[in-house]
Amino acid sequence: MSAEARGADSEACLEMLATCCEAKRLERARTLAAKVGFQVADAELVIAAVANYNVVLDIKARRIQHGCRDFQGQAAERRLCKHVAAAILALGADACRTIATELAEGVAAASAGEVAPWSFEVITRFTPGRG
Ligand SMILES: [Zn+2]
Repeated sequence: MSAEARGADSEACLEMLATCCEAKRLERARTLAAKVGFQVADAELVIAAVANYNVVLDIKARRIQHGCRDFQGQAAERRLCKHVAAAILALGADACRTIATELAEGVAAASAGEVAPWSFEVITRFTPGRG
């Protein structure tokens, strides 16, 4: 894939994310994305460490679990804080575009029920399922 094509993918992803993440947060997310560490990153489940927070993207169940103070407010409006946006960005263009599109369309089509919307779950504490 050419750098140009990757750029176009990133643009598409950012455009989608912009529908569910406010511009300043998205800008911060782009900076944070370079520092995201993945504990799990497969097709069904993503567990990421972003700054001092965990972000869980349960892709199979279409659920976001996260617990920063900003997310507690944003989740009620189905919008993303910078940590969640950063984790999605860091997944790479393909996964990012898929998730961002679902989030964007979930916002738009939630009442119509055409797209099962992602749920936003505020967690105050995350315990990884290890042992
Ligand atoms: Zn956050």
